[in-house]
Amino acid sequence: MNFLEERIVKNGIVKEGNILKVDSFLNHQLDVDLFDRMGIEWAKRFEGVEINKILTIEASGIGIACVVARHFGVPVVFAKKSKSVNLDGEMYTAEVESFTHKNKNVVIVSKKFLNKDDKVLIIDDFLANGCALQGLISIINQAGASVSGIGIAIEKGFQNGGQIIRNMGYKLESLAIVDSMDASTGEIKFRDQI
Ligand code: 5GP
Repeated sequence: MNFLEERIVKNGIVKEGNILKVDSFLNHQLDVDLFDRMGIEWAKRFEGVEINKILTIEASGIGIACVVARHFGVPVVFAKKSKSVNLDGEMYTAEVESFTHKNKNVVIVSKKFLNKDDKVLIIDDFLANGCALQGLISIINQAGASVSGIGIAIEKGFQNGGQIIRNMGYKLESLAIVDSMDASTGEIKFRDQI
């Protein structure tokens, strides 16, 4: 088990409805040293890949992305969730369905902060069905920028987001892939990674 898998086993709580609660270190209280180790690991996995910007989505992605960005020496842009769609043409927009809240949000990024020369690493906390990632990829495409790679802390491998994103040809690096989890026993099984 790697450092993140160990932490998930120690502090993660499996909830009904395929939800893994990790709010003691990733989603509410934030373990910045852990984020730093995640940054070291992604810097290794994306070594040699051209990256000049990190894109994430509010809220949980921001803290992780900021710490990770120090290992890449690049700025972080986060997609904002917006109730009203700004149609003045100054924003890239995408619709994202929230897995945890079961509602739809429009996410926006100002055209000022993403352009065709950008080589973007997407960072997020979880990958479930892949809606959040598809929204971020759409925004990068609208900007004419390119996706250099995707770093996810926890992928729920029993949901189809990871397969969809890998089939699209993206370099997706999830630090922990949960293949199954059981709310009644609390047992979590991880996919073997080399
Ligand atoms: P997706 O768009 O891939 O279906 O879901 C990704 C988003 O949903 C993540 O950014 C995360 O905020 C949230 N999410 C999905 N599954 C879980 C989960 O099991 N636990 C937590 N804490 N968040 C989740």
